[in-house]
Amino acid sequence: MRVGLDFDNTIVRYDSLFHRVALEQGLIPDHVPRDKAKVRDHIRSIGREPDWTAMQGEVYGARMGEAEPFPGVVDAMSRLVARGHELVIVSHKTQHPIIGPKHDLRAAARGWIDDNLIADGEALFPSGMVHFEATKEEKLARIAACGCELFLDDLPEILNAPGFPRQVRAVLFDPAGNHAGATREAVASWDDFAALLGAP
Ligand SMILES: [Mg+2]
Repeated sequence: MRVGLDFDNTIVRYDSLFHRVALEQGLIPDHVPRDKAKVRDHIRSIGREPDWTAMQGEVYGARMGEAEPFPGVVDAMSRLVARGHELVIVSHKTQHPIIGPKHDLRAAARGWIDDNLIADGEALFPSGMVHFEATKEEKLARIAACGCELFLDDLPEILNAPGFPRQVRAVLFDPAGNHAGATREAVASWDDFAALLGAP
């Protein structure tokens, strides 16, 4: 079947990178856990929200190459493809950050995909299998239009949105167990996700 995948915080894990950049910029003490949400919460708690916003442009742009795939992503994707599934990325990503330097966020993400999502020397996502959409509504429309039977996303608000297509099976990616019960189906890892689709 055709399987749709969210990108940020589903395929790519940013915890270490946000932690590193925040430390470099003196925005957090080093006892703040290596966790994107905890880094954000600390920066907000000291009234530095604009720095957090600017940091996102930097992380998703200039520093994107330092971001890591979630554990087991490439192996799980290879098994899914071997099992006959077709993988499509549908990501809510603007071309440029809303504020700050005009990093090309889509080019950075495309570069990351080409560098990291490779199996046996072959790109797992040839062009045409990656869609970047400027708004949440356009992302939902693309999920409906791409022919996906299932969609994996880390945000319950996408999977539970009124505009989420009814015919698409919604699966939450919840590695930290932050959203128990928020959706009908959830997985905690890429191994779990591959197993769910018959590719353990
Ligand atoms: Mg996401």
